[in-house]
Amino acid sequence: MSQSIESGWTRIEASTPLPVRNAKDVYKATEYIVTADLLIPGRGKPLENTGIHIFGSKIVSVGPSAALLAESPDVSTTHVKVLMPGMWDCHVHLLGVHKVSGDAFIDAYKNQVLSGARSARDVMLLLDAGFTSVREMAGWGLQLDRAIQEGSLVGPKIYSSNCIISPTGGHADLQDLPVPWMQDMCSHGAPFLTADGPDECMKAVRLQLRAGADVIKICGSGGVGSERDNPIDRQFVDAELEAIVEVATQAQRLVGAHCHGKAGIVAALHAGVKTIEHGSYLDAEAAELMKSKGAVLVATRLIVENALKLKDFLSPSGYAKIEAVAKAQWNAMQIAIKKGVTIAIGTDTGVSMPNSIATQGLNGKELYYHVKAGMSELQAIESATANGPLTLGRRAPKAGQLREGFDADFIALDANPLEDIKLLIGGKHVTHVWRQGVAYKWPGHAVNII
Ligand SMILES: [Zn+2]
Repeated sequence: MSQSIESGWTRIEASTPLPVRNAKDVYKATEYIVTADLLIPGRGKPLENTGIHIFGSKIVSVGPSAALLAESPDVSTTHVKVLMPGMWDCHVHLLGVHKVSGDAFIDAYKNQVLSGARSARDVMLLLDAGFTSVREMAGWGLQLDRAIQEGSLVGPKIYSSNCIISPTGGHADLQDLPVPWMQDMCSHGAPFLTADGPDECMKAVRLQLRAGADVIKICGSGGVGSERDNPIDRQFVDAELEAIVEVATQAQRLVGAHCHGKAGIVAALHAGVKTIEHGSYLDAEAAELMKSKGAVLVATRLIVENALKLKDFLSPSGYAKIEAVAKAQWNAMQIAIKKGVTIAIGTDTGVSMPNSIATQGLNGKELYYHVKAGMSELQAIESATANGPLTLGRRAPKAGQLREGFDADFIALDANPLEDIKLLIGGKHVTHVWRQGVAYKWPGHAVNII
């Protein structure tokens, strides 16, 4: 760093380290430049010696570092090794529970401050790990997002479905609870709802719109964690699915459906559902249908891999269900990747137990599994960045890419994730995090809970 401001930015040699101006101020500035050895734009080829110029919450330009610095000699700058968009996890749950069961949800419902406190840590862990946006597919996301937006908490932008809507006896009707208990919890704000018949389905969607949901989440098939239904079986009939999609579409919301079995996937796609969550039994025919409908797959492999490690804690029938789904889903992911289905990264992470394998913050493992299933590292990063907003339909922000006019949500790394995708697991290699142009993490400054 031998140059001073006066020494002329235009004369910098390629081999000369780029100057850093007012580096101490850059993390507080509203206008600044971040230059990088390597910039991964989210969509498109990586670029060497490239930087971004930020003003407020937006990226105002992207270009060769030397040119950016020359154009704006008075702007504070910093330099990083690798720059990429902040990541999106398009399927999380922020529930503040230590396990996924009816009892755990009752505990969370009875002790809402406890759930909130656990969730506060979860959103901090997500931001620390480089996730600047999450799509929350049932949970306390709307309330947590409000706390984050007002500055009471530090975390990613949360786009939430509020409830998950299930038919009676379906995947999200907590089957081990008496019906009145379930209904009482739901009528007091627990993020589950049952609906049967087109009229109730329409009302259920409208209740989510009333709450401010960004996306609508439904059960298109049975589930793994729900003991009394089968992941292969469809849930909701066509008329119900169509009613849900019609009401959601009127309000410019996209519908995402939890679907394992093929019948549920196909029915959801024909009804106009645009994201298939899990997609475990997707085959070549269903993959083609997804492409023709412009739908996005959110495979959530991480929760399946984690569940496979729980043999000692599950009933033999519960574990058999997981094994079958895991095998089918691994095949489905490979088919989807080969066929070129649009994929967004989502993990289904939803447990708040500190230090467990299922905690928030390890969401980057999903990229690793997608690379293992056949994606290039660059494709996995695109799925975790540029493709994230595609899961929100018309409510999508201009985000997920390092491009002019896009949201200034970006992270820096101390090594190249295109050489080792595992660098994106946890926050260890994430040296910097900016969201909406605001710096939350940089060397010597950890992401703090407030
Ligand atoms: Zn889920």
